[in-house]
Amino acid sequence: MPKMKAVFLPGDKRVEIRAVEAPLPGPGEVLVAVKASCICRSDLSLYYGNAVVGGAKAGKCITGHEPAGVIAATGAGVKKFKAGDRVALHLALGCGVCAACRVGNYHLCPEWRCLGFTADGGNAEYLVAPERNCLMLPKAMSFVAGAISTDAFGTLYSACRKLNVSGASAVGVWGLGPMGSSGVLAIKALGGRVVALDPIEERRSFAKELGADLALDPNESDVREQILAFAGGSGLHAAIDCSGSGAAQNMALDATRPLGRVAFIGEAKETTIRPSDQLIRKQLQLFGSWYFNIAEYDEIIDTILRKNIELERLATHRFSLDQAETAFRLFDERKTEKAVFVL
Ligand SMILES: [Zn+2]
Ligand SMILES: [Zn+2]
Repeated sequence: MPKMKAVFLPGDKRVEIRAVEAPLPGPGEVLVAVKASCICRSDLSLYYGNAVVGGAKAGKCITGHEPAGVIAATGAGVKKFKAGDRVALHLALGCGVCAACRVGNYHLCPEWRCLGFTADGGNAEYLVAPERNCLMLPKAMSFVAGAISTDAFGTLYSACRKLNVSGASAVGVWGLGPMGSSGVLAIKALGGRVVALDPIEERRSFAKELGADLALDPNESDVREQILAFAGGSGLHAAIDCSGSGAAQNMALDATRPLGRVAFIGEAKETTIRPSDQLIRKQLQLFGSWYFNIAEYDEIIDTILRKNIELERLATHRFSLDQAETAFRLFDERKTEKAVFVL
């Protein structure tokens, strides 16, 4: 069996590049030659050794849940996809037949496995995935943009649809890493106005470059007044927290108007909110959102193409697999937006 390079994160900020056997596609599976694979904030849970995905053990699986590449071979019974097709991958490997899987919510399947956490992922030369997880990439889209179109842009686009973002919306985004930056792009694509908040100055200016109407430091003393003046009326129509910080989550709830909607996307183990003031009296809808139903991907791709959304701009840093240690360190230090392995 030929060997391939693959990146593992066994914890304590260690990064290991191991030579492992290249996988073979089983029935219903495809072998993908990886061309681009993004690093995500959730990968840092493995980097530190405290996996955010249930059942995952740091160092056990090949990392990478945001890959794109070319199908190199297909297993028995593969029908729609063929060698040479350019694809991104939906990260959730579901059973395929439960109620959640049947409506495309593979990530809500009780038996799901996650690429890069509980199944071998895309930070390697090859990966194997079920045919039904393949997302066909249009010719006009690069592999880097394809990889970013999944967890980063796809997650935020899906959240914006749940938030009813439209041309009438004033929306706040807290946390301007790759998720929040994708949120800025998604809100603008849907016609909304966006105020983007992050304590890091470079991230605020990047959000402005991406189209944010206003960028604020959440630690400024008059930030509440500035958000209100921006939103008009009694506050924002919608808010998204990508930071996972309790202060930001509370500010998002406080800044949203009655009957508004708030999505929590940034991972957080626990937080304290004030339900009476923030939710009940305002009749506000708060929900958690992560990733997207696979049936939404057609609309995600269609929006990216029609609105000419330049997802590659989010890929501020590109690395080879051999540079994995540097890649994870810079990403951890918030020196990058999307850091992408390019093969
Ligand atoms: Zn991700
Ligand atoms: Zn299932």
